[in-house]
Amino acid sequence: MFLQTQGITKEFGKLRAVNQVSLDIRKGDIHAIIGPNGAGKSTYFNLITGYHQATSGKVLFKGEEITHLPAYRRCKHGITRSFQITSIFPKFTVYESVLMGLLSHRGVTLSFFSASKKFFKEEVYRILEDVGLADQADTLGDSISHGDKKRLELGITLGTEPELLLLDEPTCGMSPEETESTMIFIRKLVEEKGLTILFTEHDMSVVFGIAKRISVLHQGTLIADGKPDEVRANDEVQKIYLGGTA
Ligand code: ADP
Ligand code: MG
Repeated sequence: MFLQTQGITKEFGKLRAVNQVSLDIRKGDIHAIIGPNGAGKSTYFNLITGYHQATSGKVLFKGEEITHLPAYRRCKHGITRSFQITSIFPKFTVYESVLMGLLSHRGVTLSFFSASKKFFKEEVYRILEDVGLADQADTLGDSISHGDKKRLELGITLGTEPELLLLDEPTCGMSPEETESTMIFIRKLVEEKGLTILFTEHDMSVVFGIAKRISVLHQGTLIADGKPDEVRANDEVQKIYLGGTA
């Protein structure tokens, strides 16, 4: 199995934010985690990336237990979450931002930054082509549209050569049109690069349109897991979450 959580649990004091979640994520899947606000989606992601330590349970990646590895070591293994870069690199150009993602993964220090600008040109441009930002390479991160910033975020993340990409509400703040085009773009990336994506998204039409597999959390507990049609038809999911409208 590509990624597996076994009875993973996270408690914050008396609150059980994630409760005994056992789930398999298969290589090459576009896998959505859905559930109402506060269901534990972000916490579950954080247990996989290593941002939070599990209270109990295990995380296995390609058969190896990674439950207690720090986040940066998981990143080296190919587990990456999209950086919230929009607020971090506003004074750098699109080109420089992607270059930094690339350098950070290779352990190249920032003192090498100027020299490396030309050195990695081909690689940076390949990523910029992938995310459709090549024509904005020299524009400041600040000056591009919100949708393009999200693409840039993905570009920076691609520089870290992820195998498993976790996207927590990647289309947050986007218009319905931008949301749709971004998700279509993400699906293309998965297909072309053989990535595996675990994502959350509040727009159910996007989730059901793009995910190959959907898992539903409710109060930290996994209440359904399967193909979109199976999850949509699940009585408990209907009652608790979809409200009969999906
Ligand atoms: P979701 O992403 O599904 O909206 P979260 O994982 O963010 O849900 O939150 C699940 C529950 O855990 C919520 O009740 C939230 O208030 C709580 N929670 C999340 N992070 C923390 C934290 N760092 N400290 C304490 N409680 C937290
Ligand atoms: Mg969340």
